Amino acid sequence: MLLRIVGLLLVATCCFSCDGQAQTAPAKAKASAATKTAAKAATPATGRNLYYSRTDTTRLRLSDAQWKQVLTPEVYRVARGKDTERPFTGKYWNAEAKGTYYCAACGNALFRSTAKFASDCGWPSFFEPLRTKAVRYEADNTLGMERTEVLCGRCDAHLGHIFNDGPPPTGQRYCMNSIVLDFVPGKSPAFGALGN
Ligand SMILES: [Zn+2]
Repeated sequence: MLLRIVGLLLVATCCFSCDGQAQTAPAKAKASAATKTAAKAATPATGRNLYYSRTDTTRLRLSDAQWKQVLTPEVYRVARGKDTERPFTGKYWNAEAKGTYYCAACGNALFRSTAKFASDCGWPSFFEPLRTKAVRYEADNTLGMERTEVLCGRCDAHLGHIFNDGPPPTGQRYCMNSIVLDFVPGKSPAFGALGN
């Protein structure tokens, strides 16, 4: 039994080390210390996200490896892998609290709760972003559909898609994934208050 436990620990240590080497040098350096907590090694994104800021709107251009180091696997899967969470499963699809929704990857202010509307699609839906450049758009022709992808205007994280079946005043529906949103309750900045 003891041998079996030691064997499992060695396997876990090896997995983590290999993963660390595949990334950048700092991750490799940290690997030996981190192997003491082999249980935590199952969650690769353990570093603090140094790029996260709710006030800095400077464009971020990071490598995939850099994102992998600072995002949780769940956020990474949607933000960088363009995955879509299942409807009615995210934490914000039916949220009604007053506040501001920020990009979970970089902290960019994206939407005010006053622009959020009750949608039966199962994902948090908004009729306008907090400022024009809060998001950007790209054509998405995957899955045999012609859609418009919505990305974070600061870090290019995949947020969701936009459709033309929203309510007034814009008639647009920003259909977002909860996992890439951070909600902060309280008063929201007015439209355009953080720039264009
Ligand atoms: Zn972002």
